[in-house]
Amino acid sequence: MKYLSNTVSLEIFPEHCIGCGSCVEVCPHGVFAIENKKAVILDKDRCMECGACVGNCAFGALTVNKGVGCAAAVINSIISGGEPSCDCSGENKTGNCC
Ligand code: SF4
Ligand code: SF4
Repeated sequence: MKYLSNTVSLEIFPEHCIGCGSCVEVCPHGVFAIENKKAVILDKDRCMECGACVGNCAFGALTVNKGVGCAAAVINSIISGGEPSCDCSGENKTGNCC
């Protein structure tokens, strides 16, 4: 899932990153990868501003204006009648965001 283009507040500070991989593990949307022992943002527009990566980065290498994140997915699922679409669970699960 992608969100609005160029609206995401996620930023990375490579000089603080030690390449521990926590952000890769917790991000439910596969926003990060480790390249050359540093985290890189693969696709910023996939970020839902849940804040999981920032909360799990012990080195201050990430920042995001944490939004409603999972709550938005739940509300959308109620409106649409389907399952929450944040990819945190089920077959699409890629991390432990919450
Ligand atoms: S959690 Fe922080 S230090 Fe670890 S790889 Fe991600 S940005 Fe780098
Ligand atoms: S805020 Fe959430 S969705 Fe965005 S990069 Fe961090 S963990 Fe991934």
